[in-house]
Amino acid sequence: MRWFSWLTSSAANTLVDPVSGRKLYPIDGGIAFPDYHKQETADIPIRNVAMPSHYIVPLRVNPRFTARPIVDIGARVRKGEKIGEPEGKFGVAVHAPTSGVIRDLGHYPMTHVSGLPALAYFIEPDGKDEAIEPTPYRGACDDTDRIRDFLQQMGLAGLGGAAFPSHAKVASSPVKTLIINGAECEPWITCDDRLMREHAAEIVAGACDLAAAVHAQEVLIGIEDNKPQAIAAMQAAAANHGTVTVVAIPTIYPAGGEKQLIERLTGIEVPYGHLSAEFGVLVFNVGTARAVHRALTDGEPLIERVVTLTGAADDPGNRWVRIGHPIAELILEMAPKPEVDRYLLGGPMTGFAIPDLDAPILKGSNCIIAASPDLFPPPPPEQPCIRCGACAPVCPARLEPMALYWFARAQQFGKAQEFHLFDCIECGCCAYVCPAHIPLVDYYRYAKSEIWEREREKSKAQQSKARFEFRNYRLEREKAEKAARAAAKAAETKRRLEAQAKQSSTEASPGDTDSKQESAPSPQALGTNDPDARKKALVEAALARARAKRAAEATEPSGENRE
Ligand code: SF4
Ligand code: SF4
Repeated sequence: MRWFSWLTSSAANTLVDPVSGRKLYPIDGGIAFPDYHKQETADIPIRNVAMPSHYIVPLRVNPRFTARPIVDIGARVRKGEKIGEPEGKFGVAVHAPTSGVIRDLGHYPMTHVSGLPALAYFIEPDGKDEAIEPTPYRGACDDTDRIRDFLQQMGLAGLGGAAFPSHAKVASSPVKTLIINGAECEPWITCDDRLMREHAAEIVAGACDLAAAVHAQEVLIGIEDNKPQAIAAMQAAAANHGTVTVVAIPTIYPAGGEKQLIERLTGIEVPYGHLSAEFGVLVFNVGTARAVHRALTDGEPLIERVVTLTGAADDPGNRWVRIGHPIAELILEMAPKPEVDRYLLGGPMTGFAIPDLDAPILKGSNCIIAASPDLFPPPPPEQPCIRCGACAPVCPARLEPMALYWFARAQQFGKAQEFHLFDCIECGCCAYVCPAHIPLVDYYRYAKSEIWEREREKSKAQQSKARFEFRNYRLEREKAEKAARAAAKAAETKRRLEAQAKQSSTEASPGDTDSKQESAPSPQALGTNDPDARKKALVEAALARARAKRAAEATEPSGENRE
């Protein structure tokens, strides 16, 4: 039985949390698992791990945002020292996890489903773990711009999984409601549960710091009701903070999805392609809230997080792990059983099998599950869809998963988009209930990646067309300008010659009288009736004019020299 009962409002089909008294709004779909497998690790206190032989610290904090390396190979660094400068508006700084020597800067495997490598520092620890002098935040607690810049330099990114830069959210003020996400709805994962039990005061302090930074009027801390100890600890920590309310929400997957949590707590439905900040709401994970407080108060950059080590292991539990810790060394900490055949990163619903164990722990790495055939048997073979319709009612995004599947399979991507493919949050609820064992999410991911690829190709073709049209326009413009320059030059030459001719006629010396006289046909010759004599007179006059013109030109400097 739950630690308290839920009251149902029949009029609006909404729930009321009897402890906080807050109205809770219904959300669609979701799955209540028969076993959440939280008990394997939830009651074990968080421990530290042994220092590994090396750290691989990536400069890419999440698939989209990166940092620029600023330390040379061979340099000695100390714990907390900045080694990567944020790039662009959304990049966040990267810091050394311990003291040691930078041995390499190169591409290393990453914990990404693609297995693609990323630029990273290879750091060899010296075992001293010497730290730099911390520099806490010294500005006003409501100075949004300064806090945003400070968090960017402290390497703050979301610890819930997506590692979205925290400072970018802080910039999204003004905000009415700040939500702290303690729902942690996926089976097996308990890192947030343990953090709330052991560090509730720091999480609440971080929530208050963030609320001040974004000028939020209220703070809601949403926790699934299968974590009664965490709820109690957070309520005790929030007791003296009037604007902070701890709200217990029904345990259902994916209640911890950002959009689902916002809808459950506020009734606001954030449409696809929009940010929650547009609706006056911001969401931060509980781990991020604690890290924000540690950064502002203690000057501690984000270099470590809690990771759940669970599954087929003799020593499961939650551990403090520094960013860059190689997974191959970390999994030894939980003493995996011999039957383990692969390791999953994240929960069983949204996680994936780690392609390369040499990859490091990142800011968004919340859980490693040692998977064995007993715990995670291979899925039965995929069967044809029997159109049972079981996938639709569990979809939290109110989609038609069967239709999306058919369109993706038939490569009718336009139709898939018409059926709101991009509203799919890839929660996996539909695939979980499908009796035909169709890996539906794989089809959606395939369709999305094909559409993105085509969009990229289309965008490239449009850019090429625009470049071609601009080149034609430039050539035409240059041709017209050249013709205009030639016409202007010809007109100028004509004008100058006419002016010269006029000047030479008005300034002619007396000696020129002969030539003038020579250039004009004699009246006697023109007055004669003899046609031969008249023609001869006209020819002589023309020749005389030509001689006079040549003489005049010989006395002028050339046009080329004048220019
Ligand atoms: S649950 Fe599976 S079999 Fe049933 S309609 Fe959906 S895709 Fe088809
Ligand atoms: S994976 Fe997508 S389609 Fe399937 S239930 Fe989740 S949101 Fe709906």
